Amino acid sequence: MNRQALDELKQQIPLMDYLQAHDWHPARPLSGGRWMGLCPLHEDHKPSFLVDPHKDLFYCYGCGRGGDVIRFAELYHQVKFSQAVALLHQWRGVEPLLYEAARFYRVQLHRHSEAVAYLYQRGVRSPALVEQMRIGYAPGGCLRGWLTQLGYPLPALHQAGLVTGGGYDAYVNRIVFPLESNLYGRSLSATAPSHRFLPGGKGGLYSWAQAQSYPEVILVEGLFDYAVLWEAGFHNVTCSLGTHLNALQLEQLCEGSRTVYLAFDADGNGSGQQAAQRLSRSLRKRGITARRVSLPAGHDPNSFFIAGGDAQEFQRLLQEATL
Ligand SMILES: [Zn+2]
Repeated sequence: MNRQALDELKQQIPLMDYLQAHDWHPARPLSGGRWMGLCPLHEDHKPSFLVDPHKDLFYCYGCGRGGDVIRFAELYHQVKFSQAVALLHQWRGVEPLLYEAARFYRVQLHRHSEAVAYLYQRGVRSPALVEQMRIGYAPGGCLRGWLTQLGYPLPALHQAGLVTGGGYDAYVNRIVFPLESNLYGRSLSATAPSHRFLPGGKGGLYSWAQAQSYPEVILVEGLFDYAVLWEAGFHNVTCSLGTHLNALQLEQLCEGSRTVYLAFDADGNGSGQQAAQRLSRSLRKRGITARRVSLPAGHDPNSFFIAGGDAQEFQRLLQEATL
């Protein structure tokens, strides 16, 4: 999730609203509209928790902790940053909406043979994989009706980016992959932009909760790369949705000690390999071993497997990966 998306999230959730929803009571007013109250983060007997509703910041004179609404959610729920962000999204109410949309798209997938044919052509062939990645299809022109019938107001759909300002479904003719707190849409049409996200940023690494338990992790650019590797039995794979990692993704890769295999595209203009080089340098600086996987020229992991590559051959590429 990028900086801008985090700022938007914070703007949408005033700290005071969030605190009061979690049973915090302002006890004593201070100058400048600030309030003191009992600290919800430690055993507090006289008010030591200061809240500035204009700056959306808190500070506790008792336990010495302070920060913004995300920091508060981290401390209060005792979760990591990414989980705190996810909880706040949920609290804001976008999460249920995205969940409903994803569920609707999953039903559509089986009603549209062109979508199934596209997945087949991209190497996504087993129902178990479709199930595991919760892949769906957005035909366009029917999500709005479905969600409003379920009782979601149009402004909420618009705010989540599911419906355009003109009232049309935002995703048309796209394969849809649910992310942590977004939906990624891959266009089937050559005339539309290939990759789209809803507002709010791409979030952390794909399926990181699953991948992070491995001492060696394979990082790929795209979800179709992820899909074929998963299918081939590499369950220690994760995806950054593009070659540029956001701060959260970088932070995730760098927590703990592990080896990261960078399996970016070997595209003609060398941009994937340049990105891998940059990332490997930045990981090394943070004490993480990074190895660059060299795919045959013009290939990404997805096309490698579609062209007949198998797990054994990919394993060999991993062994040959350079520092
Ligand atoms: Zn405190």
